[in-house]
Amino acid sequence: METQTAAWLEAPKPGARLVIRNDIEIPTPIDGEILVKLEYTGFCHSDVHSIYGETPMDTDIAGHEGVGRVIKVGPGVPETMLNTRVGIRWQYSTCGSCEICAVNPTVCPNQHNSGRDVRGTFQQYIVAPAKQVTKIPVQLKSEVVAPLLCAGLTLYSAIAKAHLSPGEWLVIPGAGGGLGHLGVQIASKRGYKVIAIDTGEAKREMCLKLGATTFLDFKTNKVEEEVKRLTNGFGVHACIVTAGSEAAYTEAFKLVRPLGTLVCVGLPRLDFDLPISPFMMVVKGLHVVGSSVGTDKEMEELLEMAVHGDVVPQIAVFDFDEINNVMERLARFEIGGRIVLRIPQ
Ligand SMILES: [Zn+2]
Ligand SMILES: [Zn+2]
Repeated sequence: METQTAAWLEAPKPGARLVIRNDIEIPTPIDGEILVKLEYTGFCHSDVHSIYGETPMDTDIAGHEGVGRVIKVGPGVPETMLNTRVGIRWQYSTCGSCEICAVNPTVCPNQHNSGRDVRGTFQQYIVAPAKQVTKIPVQLKSEVVAPLLCAGLTLYSAIAKAHLSPGEWLVIPGAGGGLGHLGVQIASKRGYKVIAIDTGEAKREMCLKLGATTFLDFKTNKVEEEVKRLTNGFGVHACIVTAGSEAAYTEAFKLVRPLGTLVCVGLPRLDFDLPISPFMMVVKGLHVVGSSVGTDKEMEELLEMAVHGDVVPQIAVFDFDEINNVMERLARFEIGGRIVLRIPQ
């Protein structure tokens, strides 16, 4: 058996730590699969939720933002795929044949997810279905593209679901974070007016530089009052809640104008219900929509934006053996931008 290095999890639980092991089997691609030698992987906040047992996890290797090269193809996969650079996403596979897939496969009930129920990208080698991986344009560096595979795609799709027209107002709470800062760039390039909410001078500077129309500091500004003042008293056309906090959802409903859209992305504890009454939904004619990652087409469109320099992830790269340290700091929201781990070669 050929073995490899991986960050292995004994069992999900609060405060769990990963064990760097060198005895994990290198998988063999079967029908329609490829073997990928990973170069970089992002470390998404939802991996922390999985590893800490806050959301379901049924495998022993997390990670779902992997970039690497195809080094082996299974039966039925053209040899031309060898040596191409591909991305492994959260959506490891979908059934492609159910009624949901026919409309939007991101919510296929038969899907498998990297790092949730199949081994993820915190390892040197991963197998994946050839038709589900993302081809990475040559112009983009592996470490820079990694965060686009989940964080970027998630924001791209969430913004699309808000159905805005240029000139309309979008508010992004947590705009300076790993998801938010990508949303600011995508939305402003689309011509939407972005109100970035976060705190601190560094985040203010970054959000404004990335294209936000205005920045509100939730520690020093009266956010609701300011948002209403900026939007003729009505509130914004859409709000994308990237933060996984109950407070963020409670606040969001106060910022959206009648007929506006609230897009749920961030995950608070699983038994938290949206803080809005049917009465207020009716009176304001609101739209509420959930969004998880995005489609292949949305992925392609986002990579196209990245190739043109319209979306540039701000990344912090760490060595693979720092993974536990990084996870603890990530859990405490101590690291700015998106975390990327260098896979040992
Ligand atoms: Zn993710
Ligand atoms: Zn399906």
